[in-house]
Amino acid sequence: MENRWNDAESAAYAAPLAQRVYTSRLLGADPSLVLHGGGNTSVKHTAVDLMGRTHDVLYVKGSGSDLATIEEKHFSPVRMEPLLELATLETLSDPAMARELRRALMDPAAPDPSVEAILHALLPQRFVDHTHADAVVSLTNTPSGERWIREVYGDRVVVIPYVMPGFRLSRLCAEIFPRAAHAGTLGMILMNHGIFSFGETARESYDRMISLVGEAEDFLAARGAWNIPLDPAPLPVARRVGPSVAARRREISDAAGVPMLLALHDDDRTRAFARHPDIDRIAGQGPATPDHVIRTKRVPLLGGDVAAYTTDYHAYFEDNSVKVDADLTILDPAPRVVLDPEWGLATVGRSAKEAAIPRDIYARTVDIILRSEALEEWKALPPFDIFEVEYWDLEQAKLRKQGARPPLAGEVVLVTGAASGIGNACVAAFRAQGAAVVALDIAPGVETALVGPDVLGIACDVTDADAVGDAIERGVRRFGGIDMAVLNAGILLPSAPIASLDIDAWRRTQQVNVEGNVVLMRALHPFLTMAPRKGRVVVMASKNVPAPGPGMAAYSASKAALAQLARVAALEWAADGIRVNTLHPNAVFDTGIWTEEVLAKRAAAYGMTIEDYKTNNLLKVEVTSRTVAQLACTLCGPFFACTTGAQIPVDGGNDRVI
Ligand code: ZN
Repeated sequence: MENRWNDAESAAYAAPLAQRVYTSRLLGADPSLVLHGGGNTSVKHTAVDLMGRTHDVLYVKGSGSDLATIEEKHFSPVRMEPLLELATLETLSDPAMARELRRALMDPAAPDPSVEAILHALLPQRFVDHTHADAVVSLTNTPSGERWIREVYGDRVVVIPYVMPGFRLSRLCAEIFPRAAHAGTLGMILMNHGIFSFGETARESYDRMISLVGEAEDFLAARGAWNIPLDPAPLPVARRVGPSVAARRREISDAAGVPMLLALHDDDRTRAFARHPDIDRIAGQGPATPDHVIRTKRVPLLGGDVAAYTTDYHAYFEDNSVKVDADLTILDPAPRVVLDPEWGLATVGRSAKEAAIPRDIYARTVDIILRSEALEEWKALPPFDIFEVEYWDLEQAKLRKQGARPPLAGEVVLVTGAASGIGNACVAAFRAQGAAVVALDIAPGVETALVGPDVLGIACDVTDADAVGDAIERGVRRFGGIDMAVLNAGILLPSAPIASLDIDAWRRTQQVNVEGNVVLMRALHPFLTMAPRKGRVVVMASKNVPAPGPGMAAYSASKAALAQLARVAALEWAADGIRVNTLHPNAVFDTGIWTEEVLAKRAAAYGMTIEDYKTNNLLKVEVTSRTVAQLACTLCGPFFACTTGAQIPVDGGNDRVI
């Protein structure tokens, strides 16, 4: 365990709450202690109200914040007196507890206090730290868990048997801790859950957490149960797994009732784990700590039988929901973690960010399980204990806080010509609507210019069938499929009248603007047929199709061929539910080719000002790449569900087109 305390850094955090922020972030910086909102911390201090009265206050992590990035405002100031009073109640429902905690806040605008607020208040020390340290859950998720804990710590920790977090855990600690604690007590182990440390200063509590967890790690290491090797040479993955990934994602999305992303995580370790001879037993039990369940579900999907997984999930719900005194509604039965012997680990989410959470959690769970196995035997909590947390109103409230999903959440679009102009605007528009984007461009800059978990830039020449196949494969491995395509890439070479047309320029124009799109459509079709909400294609043609211009033979003819290609695709693909619609933009000047200089020249050629030239259409409006992109996005949305084969001008009105 690395102790990250730094005297110089900590000096900037003087006041108690500031110190609390500092060491909370140190804990959050270590993924072997907490992940994605896990763990919580507190400090006991005072606060003065408006009337000048001083109150004893517990500043406890508010729900929904992350220790790694926590700030003072993320701590909820709760008055100690009502907290200690609540701890004396025999029973209290968790929703009632949550209401009472809010009532006890010094600041009604503060976030909801952690559900462990009462437990933090009960512990007598000023600073309290709680994590789900990997090493501790490896020790406790074994048949002899308590014995291992005693061997490591002797009586320096108080051991709490597993109960559901929330009021019941606080109540149990209120009973056990005062009897079991003594002057040499440094912390508290919650079986199958995690560890608490405490101290009079932030540093003391933090140091104890690090040394206690370090002891657990050393104990495991001394028994050959820390670095567990796996088969070093798992079989290589086939070059093209895209179609089977997309098929699996379609089944998972159907089970979830909404489109989901499925992200493959190409690493040998989880691939070897997925082929573990005991995988059914070790992966089929439950998470390392209960609150992972809302991100990972209780168990992963092992292999490809999604239908069997959902049947099992329904049975798990039926078996366990009858044991709780509440009217529960079943959550979607789709898996969040997939262990496939060929792909290794794959994870599921409504967004790329959401799919990354079970990946981070499960990659660590793999090691936690292997260590328990090496020490003794992995033994997770029984299904009912996990069920209680999965269906706990307070956990579900965390998910509800995420709010309404954007309209294209869980869907994937491929955009060509994505590095600039209309293509680049399409990338932004689709991302804003919640879609993940596979962004292709011949310019290599596309690979670095677009950043974020929800976008994958790939340099690709769309006329190269092999390169297109590879790009689609990469996109499908990253997001699970391709549901929509914006065929936007095209070239406009210097214009010339037919009589003096350069035949190479003609051929190149047809190759990129027509053939490139044939290559793409052919390669995309199998994926579009598997789109959870049916495939959609938007083809970027041109005003030149309905209203060609002299000197533009190569470009106009290529776009006309493309528009005709789109019409045939609309006919052929309707049976698969795929909609293909065409946009005819004109005079979109905010793109790379239209520099101020070029604009000035063209305007002068027509004897116009730049402003008049830009708005030289019936409506006298400027057509921007953003406008075109928004329309492309809308065409893929539900308002155009009954439209295919349409050709829509985006030109501000043109009398020749009308
Ligand atoms: Zn916890």
